Amino acid sequence: MSKRTIIEPFRIKSVEPIKVNTREERVNLLETAKLNVFKLRAEDVLLDWLTDSGTGAMSSAQWAAIMLGDESYAGAKSFYKLKEVLADVTGMEHFIPTHQGRAAEKVLFGAVCKKGDIIPNNCHFDTTRGNLEFLEVEAVDLVIKEGLQPSTIHPFKGNIDLERVEELLKKESGRIPFGMITITNNTGGGQPVSMANIREYSQLLKKYNKPLIMDVCRFAENAMFIKMREPGYEQKSIKEICRETFSYADGATMSAKKDGMVNIGGFIVLRTDQWLDNVREMLILSEGFITYGGMAGRDLEALAVGLQEGMDEDYLRYRLRTAEYLGERLEAVGIDFVKPTGGHAVYIDAKSVLPDMPIEQYPAWSLCNALYIEGGIRSVEIGSVMFGKRLPDGTETYHSMELVRLAFPRRMYTQSHFDFAAETIAELKANAKKIRGVRITKQAQFLRHFTAEFNWV
Ligand SMILES: *Cc1c(COP(=O)(O)O)cnc(C)c1O
Repeated sequence: MSKRTIIEPFRIKSVEPIKVNTREERVNLLETAKLNVFKLRAEDVLLDWLTDSGTGAMSSAQWAAIMLGDESYAGAKSFYKLKEVLADVTGMEHFIPTHQGRAAEKVLFGAVCKKGDIIPNNCHFDTTRGNLEFLEVEAVDLVIKEGLQPSTIHPFKGNIDLERVEELLKKESGRIPFGMITITNNTGGGQPVSMANIREYSQLLKKYNKPLIMDVCRFAENAMFIKMREPGYEQKSIKEICRETFSYADGATMSAKKDGMVNIGGFIVLRTDQWLDNVREMLILSEGFITYGGMAGRDLEALAVGLQEGMDEDYLRYRLRTAEYLGERLEAVGIDFVKPTGGHAVYIDAKSVLPDMPIEQYPAWSLCNALYIEGGIRSVEIGSVMFGKRLPDGTETYHSMELVRLAFPRRMYTQSHFDFAAETIAELKANAKKIRGVRITKQAQFLRHFTAEFNWV
């Protein structure tokens, strides 16, 4: 293979300026935001790497497709167009549009699950877990042990532990309506699942007569990892790999804001009509009529194009290389991160940048703040603010890891943006002593990271 740079496989037709403000301005802005980057205005951010969800750039072909949107209430042409695209990739006949991924989850689980059920998964995404727990269903994470070890290199850290799945099936079969698998495993760092693991998992479920429902938010990125890492798939096209992946599923939920390459949208697909009536009933109650669900006709059109673009091999090669490239640059200056890099993000181990900062000062949160002040970069803390708790007696619990996630919107940023970020992070490490810790001054009982307020220590 040529060692030349893997380039962005697109050129820029429309640009959106980003505001370059000064360090002093950013200190003021962050202090006004109570030292919480969620409370910043997006226009005050230079590189917005808070999430890859719905934040990417649509192509000229997608914008053109928007004009073709059929906004008919029932039976719109746009619905049938997308249904055909999905049937071609997934082999599934039934397509239920929703406004985003969590709506697909809510509709499907509401139709199929009942109190006391158990759903196994490699790792449930937080909205998936939330929607299950809301129904008093137990969401069980059974990712392989390597998937929980940030520095262990493994080609498919998103794999599900089949032995533990079988144990659960033996013990609790009556409480399990279906099994799930999330590709790629977002909660575990955007890590892929191998085809072998998907195949064996589906066979295991079949043995116990259980359907397999996939959370396919990043099915195309997962397919590219399979192509690059799994013997036997080197010569297959991404579409062939995607088709094989879906062939093991009985249904899937998706947030189209990820590999669908659109800003809003989601869906359920189902192979048989076993649950269809119940699902459609839930859909009509909460989302909309069966041929648009939560989406406008133009959104359906943009997604029909986006799904195909998301499976383009040159795009995917560049996409996965982006995270890997930033990882290499961090490695070179001794910064630890979740390895190997996943599909959509890099997760920095804040303790490797701030080894001396006590946990009570929230090192990952402090590093997020420093990234904004020094580089205008918005990231998200996955550490003790997000997962710790203040107990009624006033004491705190802390998370086992202090991570800072940089998640990359699709087709938005160029290599020089990544170079700039790598330089900023390297400078932060070199000047780590100057990074200030924080303490919480105000917090909510649940999901406190979104709204908490802080002061400098
Ligand atoms: C984003 C995401 C969801 C939820 O989708 P929304 O569109 O944000 O509602 C579910 N599962 C995974 C793996 C995701 O990444």
